[in-house]
Amino acid sequence: MPTMIKPEADLHVHTVASGHAFSTIGEITLAASAKGIRAVGMTDHGPALPGGPHLYHFAALRFIPATLNGVRVLRGIEANILGKGKLDLPEPLLDRLDLVLAGFHEGCGFDDKGVKANTRAVLSMMDSPRVHVICHPGNPNFPLDYEAVVRQAAETGTALEINNASFYISRRGSSSNCRVIARLCAEHDAPVALGSDAHIADGVGEFSEALKVLAEEGVKWEQVVNRSLASTLQFLNLES
Ligand SMILES: [Zn+2]
Ligand SMILES: [Zn+2]
Repeated sequence: MPTMIKPEADLHVHTVASGHAFSTIGEITLAASAKGIRAVGMTDHGPALPGGPHLYHFAALRFIPATLNGVRVLRGIEANILGKGKLDLPEPLLDRLDLVLAGFHEGCGFDDKGVKANTRAVLSMMDSPRVHVICHPGNPNFPLDYEAVVRQAAETGTALEINNASFYISRRGSSSNCRVIARLCAEHDAPVALGSDAHIADGVGEFSEALKVLAEEGVKWEQVVNRSLASTLQFLNLES
């Protein structure tokens, strides 16, 4: 994979609605546009995260135009996995969203239960057509059977995120796990999603570490679901 290529969409961005992030969707789309990013996933945390938005936030995403400051806004969530097949947003609300990331966060309804139970919970989420991406699966605080998760990704088409912030800001100790996941994704031809996990507009479209790891581990550019605006819309089953 040539390292100079950058994805056109950032599938993981937080706004002030998350309660601990610092930019509005207006600021984020302006920053994205300046960097040549054509789509952003507005993936604020699910309601189970302390300080996270109320359910009404997700219903009100319909007020946001599909394109803002020339950038496509994917109305989304970074939902918390609560257990086998269960997220912290009711299904009718999930159905209204363009983009659903699902993952583990401490203190949000599912704390580390060991590799077996953690993996079971993730595999069950990947069976759901409502879930598009498993976010930061390399988090060492929630160990997983990566081989099983990657095989399931290849089978179901659910993407596994290589989260750029995991390499230097969040979830210390993720780097080596992310490498293993990337290597397995290359081996099994599983779909990969790239996210900045930006909590401020300045960080939108920042993928440098994640891109380096994907290239080094042999992931093909075609495996990156958000490589272009068109591939992103196709992955999410959205119209342009
Ligand atoms: Zn997260
Ligand atoms: Zn996040």
